[in-house]
Amino acid sequence: MSQVKRVYTFGDKKAEGRADMKNLLGGKGANLAEMNLIGVPVPPGFTITTEVCAEFNKYGKSKVVELISKDVQAAVRNIEDIMGTKFGSDENPCLVSVRSGARASMPGMMDTVLNLGMNDNSVLGLIKRTGNERFAWDSYRRFVQMYGDVVLGMKPVSKEDTDPFEEIIEDLKAKKSVHHDNELSASDLKELVKLFKSAVKKQTGKDFPSDPWEQLWGAIWAVFNSWMNERAIYYRALNNIPEEWGTAVNVQAMVFGNMGNNSGTGVAFTRDAGTGENIFNGEYLIDAQGEDVVAGIRTPQQITREGSIRWAELAKISEEERASQFPSLEEIMPDVYNELFETQRKLERHYRDMQDLEFTIQDGKLWLLQTRNGKRTGAAMVKIAMDMLREEMIDETTVLRRCEPNKLDELLHPVFDREAIKRATVLAKGLPASPGAASGKIIFFADEVENYSSKGEKVILVRIETSPEDLKGMNLAQGILTARGGMTSHAAVVARGMGKCCVSGAGAVKINYKNRTMVCDGKTLSEGEWISLNGSTGEVYAGQIGTKDPEMSGDFGDLMKLADKYARLKVRTNADTPHDSVVARNFGAQGIGLCRTEHMFFEGDRIKPMREMILASDETGRRKALEKLLPIQRKDFEGIFEAMQGLPVTVRLLDPPLHEFVPHEKENQKEMATEMGISPEAVRQKVEDLVEMNPMLGHRGCRLGNTYPEITEMQARAIIEAALNLKKKGIEVLPEIMVPLIGTAREFELQEKIIRETAETVFEENGIRIDYLVGTMIEIPRAALMADQIAKSAEFFSFGTNDLTQMTFGYSRDDAGKFLPIYLQKGLLKNDPFQILDREGVGQLVDMGTKRGRTTRPNLKIGICGEHGGEPSSVEFCHIVGMNYVSCSPFRVPIARLAAAQAAINNA
Ligand code: ADP
Ligand code: MG
Ligand code: MG
Repeated sequence: MSQVKRVYTFGDKKAEGRADMKNLLGGKGANLAEMNLIGVPVPPGFTITTEVCAEFNKYGKSKVVELISKDVQAAVRNIEDIMGTKFGSDENPCLVSVRSGARASMPGMMDTVLNLGMNDNSVLGLIKRTGNERFAWDSYRRFVQMYGDVVLGMKPVSKEDTDPFEEIIEDLKAKKSVHHDNELSASDLKELVKLFKSAVKKQTGKDFPSDPWEQLWGAIWAVFNSWMNERAIYYRALNNIPEEWGTAVNVQAMVFGNMGNNSGTGVAFTRDAGTGENIFNGEYLIDAQGEDVVAGIRTPQQITREGSIRWAELAKISEEERASQFPSLEEIMPDVYNELFETQRKLERHYRDMQDLEFTIQDGKLWLLQTRNGKRTGAAMVKIAMDMLREEMIDETTVLRRCEPNKLDELLHPVFDREAIKRATVLAKGLPASPGAASGKIIFFADEVENYSSKGEKVILVRIETSPEDLKGMNLAQGILTARGGMTSHAAVVARGMGKCCVSGAGAVKINYKNRTMVCDGKTLSEGEWISLNGSTGEVYAGQIGTKDPEMSGDFGDLMKLADKYARLKVRTNADTPHDSVVARNFGAQGIGLCRTEHMFFEGDRIKPMREMILASDETGRRKALEKLLPIQRKDFEGIFEAMQGLPVTVRLLDPPLHEFVPHEKENQKEMATEMGISPEAVRQKVEDLVEMNPMLGHRGCRLGNTYPEITEMQARAIIEAALNLKKKGIEVLPEIMVPLIGTAREFELQEKIIRETAETVFEENGIRIDYLVGTMIEIPRAALMADQIAKSAEFFSFGTNDLTQMTFGYSRDDAGKFLPIYLQKGLLKNDPFQILDREGVGQLVDMGTKRGRTTRPNLKIGICGEHGGEPSSVEFCHIVGMNYVSCSPFRVPIARLAAAQAAINNA
């Protein structure tokens, strides 16, 4: 064990670590080392590796001391030598910060300890060195406070209590009749140190450690322990960060931004993290330490003059006031600014990505304390990547790997105008259920939405919660706001499917249906008043805010072209209407992978002949009703085929249990009875007969077509006739007729026979032919097992992974909500298998089905049409098993295209 290197030093433009050692040194440590190597000024220090964290968890403290104490001592000496300081010295004390740093950044997981090394001697040394007594005592009391909190566990005893240190400060301020911390004198601060220490003694029973070495070890253990605290465990679970990784500890010489007016601290971005514009920007404070900038106690100032002017305009501050009260760093410290500007250029060019930096200025000298790849919006992600490609900073595969597919979602929905949103008032905040931006008049009842929308008015549907009856109103509204329900509530799920903006679970919004009002934030809004929703943040705004439509042009369009260049999988869409087909085509869909026919029967009067067909007592009755349905379906298919212009369209035959279509209310049953000339009682009886114990495993899918062949016949006819009609107009069509839910080869063969015979009849009637395919869904485990048999007659497979997951796990999708969240929480499942394809289990069936199918038919066309078709990790799996295409909802097409490119690049 002793040959292993556990402590890596950095300082004075030398370092034992490097940027590519993030696994060992954590992100912060690796980049601190790298910055030294490229000549950026960084206070010296050292990093204790993440492996030591694992050893700490396994063997405990004393073993780790044995393993690293020599190296730590040497590394501290290295800091002292470079800085000319000494731990605990009353001449020139060595003070350090102790910072955590995992491989992936875990914000807020653990607090940093600053000013470590402070004691009654060092404070004198600091006074001598700076001549600033107040600064020295302030640093001391900050240290006791931070160390007490982070290392000694000096937290409030119960949640009603306030912070023990804050209490002491408040008492002292009251005694001295001052309001702000900075009005306390040096002797007041000295007094605070004493009071803090006795509070520590009282609560912990131990003296506050005055030996810098004891302080240092205490802080190191605290960082290691923080890896296993509740917050960190929860954060790791959320972000799929393995426990084995561990955190590194960074110990680094302090530099002081709070030494007066020639000092300061700030954070900066090399490009705009919101828009991606290539503009250096950031904020700073004069005479302040590290976290003061984000803490919001003082208003931070802009670093660049340009940024400062923009900021003042928004804050409605005059140029005189800006220049005198809130000047930019560029204006007040031009030399430091120039150095910072050059440094950020250098860092960005070196890392070839937008950087997020922390810096401190001590008495006119610039120090960098952190650099990392900056977090950014979807728009900024695309712009920065494409700009850097043009600047020849990165190559094409880097662009594709760096862009996160799911983040493209932000670009696919209308967005608020950036300037307008800054002036808007936030009324409430709910869950960001479905991204996008929407403004409209408040309407509380779904059935009233149409009255407005038909007049071209914009509406926001506001409900306590939504139900399936609200579907039409939801679809016609600009956006949906609910007071109840989570990210998987009806409103949220349906809205996402529609690509419609939705904020759900905004508990602060009190809705009164009777008065037609909603109350939030003390304001009462009535029906017809304007509100706006941001579905990407969950914010609800008062009034109307201008929006912009998304466009797949410019950089976004170029990124997509680049993705197609590398992807092997094709991307199709799931679309049931001409409108959806057009949307998907505009997003680059290369065909329809799933066109569900049942949705066509729900609209308007169409449901009547459908019900007539289901309620008919014999084949003759059914045929009569089917004859009425034929022209309706044919017309729908013509619309969809036309929209897809020569691209393949997979049409699935009727799938859901018939029970879903029949009338359940008395009134509707009576209406149907009159229509059909039978008694309402007969209708009621028939509806009852159709009830199934477990409809998902019942009379549905090809079981319908095999028991009522005339349904398949009508659907096949509608598809083929539609295709011929378009051919006559000179439009090429490639129908792929898909039989759902087969479990045996015979089930498929019988359906295929009806389809082919019907097609031949229609060809003869018209005197022309077209090419078409007949294939099947693979969604019952037995079908995957029997794939070689089925592929003898099926010309294509489409994996229906929603049903396949449901049946492989034996989870009902409709009921899984009761236990899945708990399973995920308890770690019984790593992911929701309905969202991310379960590669291990369900994936075996997909892989086997693909391989077996292709043993019979080597060029069998294979795709996927479950929800998984638009989920990046599932798309990668589809690539790996060798599918030809994935199919997903229109709004996920660009996401799948990028995921397909990444799959090809990462599995080359
Ligand atoms: P976080 O990960 O929460 O940002 P950091 O370890 O980066 O925590 O530190 C918190 C703040 O303290 C940052 O503003 C950082 O710049 C500052 N800081 C950390 N170490 C030092 C140091 N040695 N000298 C001066 N400031 C420091
Ligand atoms: Mg930081
Ligand atoms: Mg299915």
